[in-house]
Amino acid sequence: MPLNSVKVGNFYIHSVSDGYMIFQRDAFFPNLPIESWKPYPSYSDPKFEMNIGSFVIEGADKTILVDTGLGKLNHHIEQPMRETLLSELEAFSIKPTDIDIVFLTHLHLDHVGTNMTRDNGVWKQTFPNAQYMVGKSDWEMFSRMINNPSFKYLEEQVQPLLSNGSLYLFEGEIPLTEGVVTIPTPGHTPGHTSLLIESDGAKAVIMGDTVHIPPQVEQISWSPVPDRDKALSAETRSDLMDFIEKEQALIISGHFPKPGFGEIIQVGSTRSYRPIT
Ligand SMILES: [Zn+2]
Repeated sequence: MPLNSVKVGNFYIHSVSDGYMIFQRDAFFPNLPIESWKPYPSYSDPKFEMNIGSFVIEGADKTILVDTGLGKLNHHIEQPMRETLLSELEAFSIKPTDIDIVFLTHLHLDHVGTNMTRDNGVWKQTFPNAQYMVGKSDWEMFSRMINNPSFKYLEEQVQPLLSNGSLYLFEGEIPLTEGVVTIPTPGHTPGHTSLLIESDGAKAVIMGDTVHIPPQVEQISWSPVPDRDKALSAETRSDLMDFIEKEQALIISGHFPKPGFGEIIQVGSTRSYRPIT
């Protein structure tokens, strides 16, 4: 099995990437004293790379794509590599027509950028057979900002799916298929949602942006600038890490270094993240 896939019971989960972005560490986490970074040598540089990761959950009856990357959208930061999502899917022999569900963890631009593609001047659903899904309270908040230039991308990448009936706004804990269920994880955005995959005694959690970098697994209170409600996001992060540890679930993160598969381990009395290699 290639390094960028894991098996969870009867599911395969593939890690695919739409490129990466470069963030300024102290602008992303502005309130942390420099010393807080000492235990994390991978973050000693003032800049760090963040993967723009998506995941494909392949089960017996449904193929689910989780998030669609940044696409051609402009994040106004360094983006040295971009628009690799479709070619990475192809490397797994997955065609856009194979996707049954596009699950959006939330509506930030680096998670919805390939929802729609322009083909000969006409906008089309990139995944024509898919039911797209996003938390209802995310759309309720983001749709109020659609005329703000920073959120114009919603008009291109999200609104058309609502208009043509392809976007389902869900609430709470619901199954996507047998063995895949939503976990509401608000704070980063109001309708932010993670996924629990459970099969044959094995478990995994796709965490979305509950956590952005591995040090946050132990530094629960570190809420970065894009977390809309920083106190709630810290509370959610704490609950989710407790849950993952208790369930001995695999951790899956699109923004952790590729491929973003790992587990929680105890180092002394501290909880820590260990990538699966
Ligand atoms: Zn993100």
